[in-house]
Amino acid sequence: MTTLKEFRPGLLLTEVSLDDFDVRGAVIIGDNYTVVWDSLSHPRDLQPVLPLLEQKYWVLVYTHADWDHAWGTAGLPYHDQPIIGHINCARRFDEEAPAELREKQKAQPGVWNEVVLVPPTLSIFEDEMELTLGNISVYLHHLPGHTLDCIVGFIPEWGILLAGDAVETPLPVINADSPIEKWIAGLQKWERNERVQYVIPAHGKIGGRELLRQNSDYLQNLLAGISPNIPEKLDDFYRETHRNNLRYANFRIG
Ligand SMILES: [Zn+2]
Repeated sequence: MTTLKEFRPGLLLTEVSLDDFDVRGAVIIGDNYTVVWDSLSHPRDLQPVLPLLEQKYWVLVYTHADWDHAWGTAGLPYHDQPIIGHINCARRFDEEAPAELREKQKAQPGVWNEVVLVPPTLSIFEDEMELTLGNISVYLHHLPGHTLDCIVGFIPEWGILLAGDAVETPLPVINADSPIEKWIAGLQKWERNERVQYVIPAHGKIGGRELLRQNSDYLQNLLAGISPNIPEKLDDFYRETHRNNLRYANFRIG
């Protein structure tokens, strides 16, 4: 069941507990437009969002094409709606996402039947894109790292960076094709931006720019072969993730 939390007027966070971890999206309500930030893992995750979309035009933005962020779209009246994502996100819907859905349907029969894979439609961008909602804007920026299609969204009027999976606590999740150096550079760029006051990731705690630093330090240490600082108590998911991260980073160094 999704909970809606008001982070500040005009910004509601959508939070769902999945089997292994929690995921967080958002609804950004401007004077003229509403943005749904990720459709989460399953159509039912968006049930509480529907009443928020009745009054204004709205668009859906995918932070990236991973299942826990982009599989809930069929829970919205999505036909003819603008859906925005990075060009690599659109590409991932061609083969990767359908293959993953088939796998999950095989592993958990019945659970994923309502999922419809809906790729980004009208607006596909490469580096950055501005969404003007009236009183505020959301600036979308490519920040490849966790995956090649990851983006973040900056709302300067509120000092808020919606970080998707580019930032994660207790630690970031590296994949086999993660461009780790680019990821570090992207995190450092945002860390230097003094207009960023709040960093809201899709997984883990909300904080300030220190979250960007913690993630870039972790990644830099891995690449340098130095043991990164991690919390003593990690749940199974993040212990396993840390092991995989070490493997991917060592592979890169080797
Ligand atoms: Zn995720």
